[in-house]
Amino acid sequence: MEEKELGKYRRILIAMKREIENALDGLSEIANNPNTTDSHYPDDPSYLSADEYEKVKSINIMNVDQSILELVDNALTKIENGKYGICELCGKVIEKGRLKAKPHSRYCVSCREKLEKEGKV
Ligand SMILES: [Zn+2]
Repeated sequence: MEEKELGKYRRILIAMKREIENALDGLSEIANNPNTTDSHYPDDPSYLSADEYEKVKSINIMNVDQSILELVDNALTKIENGKYGICELCGKVIEKGRLKAKPHSRYCVSCREKLEKEGKV
């Protein structure tokens, strides 16, 4: 995966992590501060584009729990060691559309379906 794209997913994942942690604390910094993205600090690592912000915000309506946080942490670790976007089961590249929908995906679509059929996820 290209460095630029990787950086984008990393930003989303870090923001997701923050949001989940806040949600777990019963707080939501972003939800309580809708003006957060109005700041113009492109150098700020927490700066998000409108699309990215929407994605992070959508976590609020998801059933947030510890397991998602673990997946996000797992994905961030994989970015660090250069394994992000690679299916943990078959080693193939995870579909872009899937990563877009779920940046914390561990498996490609076919492995995920296989695991679901076997009742492992
Ligand atoms: Zn796979």
